[in-house]
Parts: sequence; structure tokens; C-alpha cells
Amino acid sequence: MIKLFNTETREKEPLKLQNKDEITLYTCGPTVYHYAHIGNFRTYVFEDLLRRTLESFGHKVKHVMNLTDVDDKTIRGATRDGVTLDEYTQPFKDAFFEDVKSLNIEPAHFYPAATDYVPQMIEMIQTLLDKGVAYQGNDGSVYFAIQKFPRYGCLSHLDMSELKTGASERISADEYEKDSLSDFVLWKGYDPERDGSIYWESPFGKGRPGWHLECSAMAMSLLGETVDIHVGGVDNMFPHHENEIAQSESCSGKRFVNHWLHSEHLIVNGKKMSKSLGNFYTLRDLLDKGYTGREVRYMLLHTHYKTQLNFTLEGLDGVRATLGRLKDFVIRVREISGDKSGESKSVIERAQKDFNEALADDLNISQALAVLFDFVREVNGLIDKGSLGDKDKEAILEALNRFDKVIGVIPLEEEKSAPQELLECLQKREVARKEKNWALADELRDKITTAGWAIEDTPTGARLKKV
Ligand SMILES: [Zn+2]
Repeated sequence: MIKLFNTETREKEPLKLQNKDEITLYTCGPTVYHYAHIGNFRTYVFEDLLRRTLESFGHKVKHVMNLTDVDDKTIRGATRDGVTLDEYTQPFKDAFFEDVKSLNIEPAHFYPAATDYVPQMIEMIQTLLDKGVAYQGNDGSVYFAIQKFPRYGCLSHLDMSELKTGASERISADEYEKDSLSDFVLWKGYDPERDGSIYWESPFGKGRPGWHLECSAMAMSLLGETVDIHVGGVDNMFPHHENEIAQSESCSGKRFVNHWLHSEHLIVNGKKMSKSLGNFYTLRDLLDKGYTGREVRYMLLHTHYKTQLNFTLEGLDGVRATLGRLKDFVIRVREISGDKSGESKSVIERAQKDFNEALADDLNISQALAVLFDFVREVNGLIDKGSLGDKDKEAILEALNRFDKVIGVIPLEEEKSAPQELLECLQKREVARKEKNWALADELRDKITTAGWAIEDTPTGARLKKV
């Protein structure tokens, strides 16, 4: 049984599912005003691990991730560049999907864009006004009155007692800190100077939805009034998720989310990532430096989600070496042959059981990876002893595939075999070396390396490896 830490109760709990056949999962997506950075992707990779784990335990998951394409930042960018909101956000939406692919993240089933759900948002605001929990300010914006929602603060465990007496402040910015705890904006009234031509008509005047409201409307439209699991980065907990709960529950009268999960921050070289410190990376920055999506994914994945992750380029180099060892292992397993069989069975069963147990325990990924590397060591030992055959090879590869369905980092793709011409060069080179014809051997080696292949010596002879 899977147990996950629930931010609201601060306990590891078994999942409370409304419908055993399908888990509903909502994850807050990117604001498409820029390329997503590796801190964002830490959260998305963790969410991917969560979804793959649930699926590996036999659950069907319906996953929604929104795209915030209207908020303070996207409007600022579009008006600054003198383009429409769509023109401004589209390239960043496209880039996001490319990045998701590079990082081997399973795509969500739905990627609703906020601008496609404005009618649903307007309807929600109207309901909140009708119920008297929202009001229109003299600036034309509509605000949620947090005093009207006694559960406000339940997620981030805020002490609301001081606020009860004098809370009349309100805030219209989409993002703010805990010390600005106040009524928050549901509908932001139009300001021609600030918003240019970007606005929607509504019963409460021209304007656009508040960021927090967008997620509530899209989550409830696509997944129903109560969602099984809602996930985001820890910086979304307040005010974003707190506000989502207040709006949604005031609107529906039902519990909005049964299980909340939040991933911790990513820091770079021990410091908060910032452009001014020069330690700010998008995925693209790292790919430009020659790292692969798989290396970055492993780096983002390998630390437990509730622990702060310190991202360094040295760490990424270490990941490259680790993945290289895994690749060598996969090649070695593929070379197992012979009739012997059976010795790997107990090793595989134990590894599978331990791997599952680690993930079922609040996604203990470091433990799951430790299980994988123990498995590699034990199988290597069996290969050394020459005690495995064809049947073991198949069973081991199947086990690796099952592990990889969850973690998505094992280099299991078949190596493309070298062109026939180069294989012949390799053979001729072996002969030349035996005959001590070093000039010819070197010439043949150069031909192979200029074609982008490396010669690798193994106990069973030389072979070609793509570089
Ligand atoms: Zn959200």
C-alpha cells in the first residue's frame, strides 16, 4: 500500500481515493512568460515519479497540468513587446513541451490553458459573489474575503487568530509573501495603461481572472469538485494553494483536495538560484553545455522530494559517470548467453520487492536507487561466476524495464550497431595488431574515430561504441 506525506495533516497517509478505478491528479503547471528553469523542473520530474509510481502499482491516473497564460507576468511581457498575449506565450508553451520530452516526463492527459477557461472562471466568481464570500472593491477588482472562510490557512498552518480582528487589507498582485496575508484578487479590474488590449468582458466589468482562481476553475472543470491528489512546489503552498482551497470549497461546499504534496526547493551551488548570482539555469542552458536530458532528469530525481536539492555541475558530471556504469551493465547483460538458467530469479524477486517498498514509503527514491545499484552489483557477480544464461538475460532485462517504467533514466535503448564498413575496419585492425603492423592499425583506428565511434576493449574482444 502506498503511503504519502500529506502537507495538510503533516502525516504519512495511505491514499484516500474516491474512485478506486481512477486517481485524479492536478499539478500546477508553468507560467508561460519565460523558459521554465530547473527549479520548476525539479517539481515536474517529482510529479512524474509520483504518477509513474501510482501507475506501476496498478492505478489508472487522470492527470491535469495547467498552463498559466494570463497573469501579471505574461501581461507585462506582452504589453512590453507590443504583441498579443497569444503571440507572447505560444513560443514558451512550445518550449515547455520540448523540455518535457527531453526530460522523459510522461505528458499529462490534459494541459488546459487558462485563457480557454475564462467563462468557467467568471461563473465561479459570480457564485462566490452570490454567496457573499467575495466583494467588488472600489478599484473594480473582485476580492475573496478570507475571514469568511474559517479553514483559511489550513494547509500552511497559519495562525489566523491575529488576523480575525483587523483584516481589511487586500492585495491585487498574483504573487505575494506570507506577511501580506490578506484578501486576494479573483478578478482583476482592467487598467488601460497596465493591460493595453488584454481584457475580457464580465458581469463585474472588464478585466481578467486572478492567477489563483485559474487553477481552481480548471481543476474542478476537468477533475470534479474534489480532487484526489494536488501537487506543486513548496513555494506554491502559500498563497496559491491556500487560495485555491478557499475559493473552491466556498464555491462547491465540498472538500477540494484529499491529499496535498509539495516538493522542496532546488538550490544551485548552495545558494538560491538567481540571475544576479549567475547560478540560474534553464534546461536549455544545460543542454547547451553538452549535458543530456537523461542526466538532468537523474539529477533532479535522485533526492527525496521533501529534501532540498543542491544542484551543481560537478554533481551532474557524477551523474554522467553513474549512467555510464548503468549503460555498461545493460550491454553486459545483453551479452549473456548459454543454457544455464535460474540463478538470477531470487535476486530479481528480492530487488523488485525492495524497490516497490521503497517507493510505497512516500516515494523514497534514494532507497529505490540503492536497491537498483545493489541489483547491478549482484547480477555482475553472477555474470563474473559464469552462472547465468539466456533465460536469465531476458528476466534481468524485463526487471530493468519495469524499474525504468518508474524512474525513466536507465539507458535501455539498443545501441545502434556500427556500419558494416567500420566493423570490417575493426576486424582488420585486430589482425594488423596481431601482426604488429602498428601503422595500419593506427590508420584503421583513425578511420573509426573520425566516423564517430570508439573502440572499446572488453574481456570478449574489442567492440565499437557510439560516442
Ligand atoms: Zn495552481
